[in-house]
Amino acid sequence: MQTAARLGRLRSGLGPAGCDALLVTNLVNIRYLTGFTGSAAMLLVKADRALLVTDGRYAEQSRHELQAAGVQADIEIGDPEAQRRQLGAAAPKGRIGLEAGSVAWSLQRTLAGVFADAELVATDGVVEELRAVKDPGELHRMEVAAGIADEALAQIRTTLTDLQAERELGVELDFRMRRLGARDVSFETIVASGPNGARPHARPSDRRIQAGELIVLDFGALVDGYHSDMTRTVCVGEPASAVLSRMVRVVAEAQRAGVAAVRAGVATWEVDAACRAVIAEAGWADAFVHGTGHGVGLDIHEHPLLSRTSTATLADGFVVTVEPGVYLPEHGGVRIEDTVLVTADGCRPLTHSPKDLVIA
Ligand code: ZN
Ligand code: ZN
Repeated sequence: MQTAARLGRLRSGLGPAGCDALLVTNLVNIRYLTGFTGSAAMLLVKADRALLVTDGRYAEQSRHELQAAGVQADIEIGDPEAQRRQLGAAAPKGRIGLEAGSVAWSLQRTLAGVFADAELVATDGVVEELRAVKDPGELHRMEVAAGIADEALAQIRTTLTDLQAERELGVELDFRMRRLGARDVSFETIVASGPNGARPHARPSDRRIQAGELIVLDFGALVDGYHSDMTRTVCVGEPASAVLSRMVRVVAEAQRAGVAAVRAGVATWEVDAACRAVIAEAGWADAFVHGTGHGVGLDIHEHPLLSRTSTATLADGFVVTVEPGVYLPEHGGVRIEDTVLVTADGCRPLTHSPKDLVIA
């Protein structure tokens, strides 16, 4: 990973963000910029230097991780009071940006005291926008994570005919991913069968899966901090009704249309519109109750959003999901999701599991 170059890229963004320095408090952003993976730290990035403050638990780890990443930054270790003193002493006089999305009100009040001689300004998404473009090392981790999820699904596919409870199936998927090398699961695995499928973020229940109903499986693996994200909808035997079959056909077509729309330079809302048009044409506009997708990386949901109202433009190196769905409470739900790498002339999928519906 090209971690060492990231502070330089951030510095070029300070001026446009209206600040002379940025205090990074979002731990995922700190990890991105320095390689530090501890659970408590703040990072002050100035035009010429950077200062990481953390506590005694991370004295050894912080030095090791920054050095391994080749990152040039001073490190100060101390209790919260000492950390604030260090930050205050290192502060430039001008405008210091805070990450508005991650600073609690109480912290803002504390920092106003720490940086009493500076002007604090709210910034939004400065580091998150850098994170959207993945470097080769990040892509590699995400491909490994996606490959683990693909393999885990392949391993449990044949056991689906045993018709277990949703929760058992979820545990089995999680276990396979861990066993295949995932550090953890990306998020709580979704196994939603029959009517439960009509809730896009249903949690796996004790409900026993029935033949002929749709099963929405949405899951991912975590590898060295990087997430994968994929949804497949399957059915044990033929779908029990014509409506279920039609839902799957429509969502599959919408998902293909969305993936076909992905290309560097395309507005994120256009990808959403491509999916939405197919579903609206089928008469189910109101049954597609969420956005089309999101960026994936160190966070499972990150910049950019792909929704009706999102204004970002896709760029080469973004990794985003395309995941339209149709949810009908009286029938069930369908969602199909791939994670793709945005390229100059289209996109390349990271998730490769087959999309055939019926498991016999
Ligand atoms: Zn998902
Ligand atoms: Zn997703």
